[in-house]
Amino acid sequence: MRRHTLLIDADDTLWENNVFFEKLIEDFISFVEPCGYPRAFIRHVLNETERKNIRQHGYGVRSFGRSLEETYLQLAGEKVQHETLARIHGRVVDLERTPPQIMDGVPDTLAYLVQKHRLILFTKGEPAEQAAKVQRSGLQGFFEAIEIVPEKDQATYHGLVHKHKIVKTQGWMIGNSPRSDINPAVRVGLNAVYIPHANTWELEHEPVVSGSGKLMILPAFRELRTHF
Ligand SMILES: [Mg+2]
Repeated sequence: MRRHTLLIDADDTLWENNVFFEKLIEDFISFVEPCGYPRAFIRHVLNETERKNIRQHGYGVRSFGRSLEETYLQLAGEKVQHETLARIHGRVVDLERTPPQIMDGVPDTLAYLVQKHRLILFTKGEPAEQAAKVQRSGLQGFFEAIEIVPEKDQATYHGLVHKHKIVKTQGWMIGNSPRSDINPAVRVGLNAVYIPHANTWELEHEPVVSGSGKLMILPAFRELRTHF
């Protein structure tokens, strides 16, 4: 294959991310359950609060922490306990300090791909937080550019194509999220590689659409080797 531009997602593509959030959410629900609500309802209120806060404050651990706190305050009402608030806050701080856990086969696969293709890391989130994760991952050397945006939508894909002069037929977005990686990329005419992750965040779920480009579905990151 001739030289292509590979746009590569980070969270839940290069390293584990959502699994740590899910673990915290499970514990959070256990903290809130004594207020007298079913677990599924607590999760639903949290999801709605997250949607609202993402619109106002963007993605990231702090926005998430704010959502947990607001959900607890809303559901606990008169029963609010300061120890529970402190516990939630402590867990969010721990989450922010969790080092990225690189997924199986990722460094070797990037080392192989970079010899043949141009690699650009493309992630959404809070800029300082995402930049720190990239730094701690030790993977930044494989990428010609690190692009961190507030939202991965058609407009940001257009911007990226323009900025890096990507020939769309030779550009691929590789990631785990139908909503942020696959659908907007194919809608602007790029190709995409969908690598599903069992722990993809609920708010990223969406049916995969088809576009003018190619769509490949692979079971693991290391499989990119056989196609590129
Ligand atoms: Mg991802």
